[in-house]
Amino acid sequence: MLSSEILHPGHDFKPARAEVEVRWDPLTGHSSRIVKGVTLLRATAFDLEAVARQTRQSCFFCPDRIEQATPRLPATIHAGGRIRRGSAVLFPNIVTYAQYSSVSVYGPELHFLPLERMTPRLVADNLQTQVDFVSAVLRADPQAQWASINANHMLPSGSSLFHPHMQGSVDPYPTTFQRLLSEVSAERFGAYLDAERQFGERYIGEFAGIEWLASFAPVGFHELRAFIPAASSPAQLTRDLVEALGRGLAAALNLYADLGYQSFNAALYGAPPNASGFMLNLRLVARSNLEPLYRSDATYYERLHWQAMIDTSPEDLAVRARERFGRDHNN
Ligand SMILES: [Zn+2]
Repeated sequence: MLSSEILHPGHDFKPARAEVEVRWDPLTGHSSRIVKGVTLLRATAFDLEAVARQTRQSCFFCPDRIEQATPRLPATIHAGGRIRRGSAVLFPNIVTYAQYSSVSVYGPELHFLPLERMTPRLVADNLQTQVDFVSAVLRADPQAQWASINANHMLPSGSSLFHPHMQGSVDPYPTTFQRLLSEVSAERFGAYLDAERQFGERYIGEFAGIEWLASFAPVGFHELRAFIPAASSPAQLTRDLVEALGRGLAAALNLYADLGYQSFNAALYGAPPNASGFMLNLRLVARSNLEPLYRSDATYYERLHWQAMIDTSPEDLAVRARERFGRDHNN
């Protein structure tokens, strides 16, 4: 805890003290600051549906255009060219962001999908197309071992298209965070989860062995993490684990809607399937809302110092999240 003293204009310039809490992530050591008494990430009542109407006409992922405008996978990866599960459709990214990069929509019809409408079915089907894609790539190219499944959801999160989708990436090399996480020992992953389970203040719950918690030292706003001890690569996710992950992710996204957020980033960090001790894990953060005169949640602290500056305590977030996860659990 760091404390400062200023002469406060609101109190006739008398001395006032305030505190900021600094934390370090137990796995990677990155630091995080929890600020008090200010709202940095505003909730929104912005009319997203109006933006949906504006962007639908020219959208490549909507039913009129998706078949003609999106690329197909080579036969070496998938004979059908596109991977489908439920309403979800996966195709290669038209821009090369990785050696193998994919885009998967929750559904061509789902141009407008506010987070309160995310369901376990929609999320699990979309995740399954990505798991199928990663598995197919790993079979076709043994050099490409580092896979991740990600999401930029809505423009403030970095998405260039309004139509909601996930993105997959498989490369011969790890990203910076994949590398940092791959250097964490099995003992350390285990000790972190044990401590969170035992301490309980940030622990949210478990679906089919996938454990959810609020991050001790978040990299972003309202950060939730999931740990999947049974896998090190997304390719190793069984149907049951995909269902469970879809359920947890849908509960988390419904929670973001409750809290007033509609934009998020997610990353499911994978290591090679034979990486001993690595635990497949997911990070989810809320981003600024799409609205005029919005404040970006990525400042010099986040971008240039790699230190998050957030406005709510992970422990308070866990209380809210447990309500959501508990409710879903009984469904
Ligand atoms: Zn669309």
